[in-house]
Amino acid sequence: EGKLQLVQKHIRAFPDFPKKGILFRDICPILKSPAALTAVTDLFEEHVRNHYQQVDLIIGLDARGFLFGPLLAQRLGVGFVLVRKKGKLPGTTVCVAYDLEYGTAEVEIQEDAVAPGQKVLIIDDLLATGGTLYAACELMKKQQAEVLGCMVVIQLKDLNGADRLKPHGVFSLLQY
Ligand code: IMP
Repeated sequence: EGKLQLVQKHIRAFPDFPKKGILFRDICPILKSPAALTAVTDLFEEHVRNHYQQVDLIIGLDARGFLFGPLLAQRLGVGFVLVRKKGKLPGTTVCVAYDLEYGTAEVEIQEDAVAPGQKVLIIDDLLATGGTLYAACELMKKQQAEVLGCMVVIQLKDLNGADRLKPHGVFSLLQY
């Protein structure tokens, strides 16, 4: 498909970043191309409109989920909520810890950002091991929101992140 090919053409791979042995997928060229960014938003919007009757909020992950999420939310006419790394959000927050390769990290949202029963879709640029999206799902569970699914531009298949997110499904535009 034309839109998907256009998106694919705007993803670069950098070997050994941020450390040796990692092949880093870089979505920056998408942001630099209005046509590619529109294609990403079109493809996400088509997926949502074809699969969900009602979506109340798009939840975006720090930091590259913030690039794609608000565009999609605007298209759908719904709000956008930030899941941030710990310490960035003012007011009362709800927090979830998750494992990194070395140690742990925490993500949080503002306590009043999501109401119980709201139907949400969670978005990020890339699914690797699934730890980050899993933590966001846990945050939504704490807030008693209903996670409809997760969405990413890129899914790294070998890392089996989709298994970690079950029973929530993941929609990805491109798989490597
Ligand atoms: P996970 O928690 O292991 O699924 O890692 C996903 C998180 O790490 C996302 O927030 C991504 O932005 C980031 N990430 C991991 N690998 C890459 C990559 O190759 N390119 C860009 N971001 C990555």
